Amino acid sequence: MADVETTSPANNASQVNTKAPSPLLKVEALKTHFPVRKEFSSRSTSFVYAVDGVSFSIQKGETLGLVGESGCGKSTVGKTILRLVEPTAGRVRFEGTDITALSRREMRPFRQMMQIIFQDPYSSLNPRMSVGNIVGQPLIIHKIASGQELEHRVGALFERVGLRAEQMRSYPHEFSGGQRQRIGIARALALNTKLIIGDEPVSALDVSIQAQVINLLMDLQEERDLSYLFISHDLAVVEHISHRVAVMYLGKLVELADKREIYINPLHPYTEALLSAVPTPDPTVRGKKRILLEGDVPSPINPPSGCRFHTRCPLAESQCRIEEPVWREATPGHWVACHLR
Ligand code: SF4
Repeated sequence: MADVETTSPANNASQVNTKAPSPLLKVEALKTHFPVRKEFSSRSTSFVYAVDGVSFSIQKGETLGLVGESGCGKSTVGKTILRLVEPTAGRVRFEGTDITALSRREMRPFRQMMQIIFQDPYSSLNPRMSVGNIVGQPLIIHKIASGQELEHRVGALFERVGLRAEQMRSYPHEFSGGQRQRIGIARALALNTKLIIGDEPVSALDVSIQAQVINLLMDLQEERDLSYLFISHDLAVVEHISHRVAVMYLGKLVELADKREIYINPLHPYTEALLSAVPTPDPTVRGKKRILLEGDVPSPINPPSGCRFHTRCPLAESQCRIEEPVWREATPGHWVACHLR
């Protein structure tokens, strides 16, 4: 798969360092296949091709939105980047270092710089630990702070994410969903964080709380020059927070472009269908009628031949069933995999 060129993201929400000579994160032809075993057998008979050759990069201070339907592999991309799941093939470079081959010990400094915020703030916090201990744990594990200094740093983190320092002695069940996600963000910021992977970080929250958490993430990005990989199925949320957007279908990227470009001028039929379902108060912005995709998403155990989208694509031709479309740069910075676009 061809490499993805990074461009200067256009987003008024935060300033991006376009002078960065190389991306903070570079994902190259990443594959994550999970073996599937037959009942009562220790041998793998097939594989789930969860991520199957994904390439992109993220600049310092940039947010890349990663969208797609449930089960398309986008969460697995995030977990593989952090090596919570080991890749089957491909490379993940962080500040130029290939981290896919590093030992557990060699990974430690990188773990300080790369954090994840999970979708479900209810289950991602240990109910038996005070929230102060939860947020302070990374500082203890990495031997960065203890005693009074630890308490001071945790208190400052609480205040930065909009909580009160004295709340650090409470337990997760004493907080609302939005407050718990703020605790998750404080934990992600505790170390020398440069990249945060948000795995559907606001999907479980009410709309008004979603806006507060998104605004907090954007403020923190501006303040700390953070980079985000923002994984979501909600295109309206992704449009708000992202500089660029990548669209994923059945383990592969099908389109990647600047946010404004992809929302106004989508090239891939799958992106068009996703965007046609996003409600908009201004019909002239997208001005297209709803495209209803027929059929279910095929199984990632046995993905369709040729273009993986051909079983649901309204434009599919005979070539699409046989030949896999090449990932190519259709216009500067706008990447797509489709025979017709
Ligand atoms: Fe549709 Fe063919 Fe393009 Fe795939 S390659 S998106 S099937 S037109």
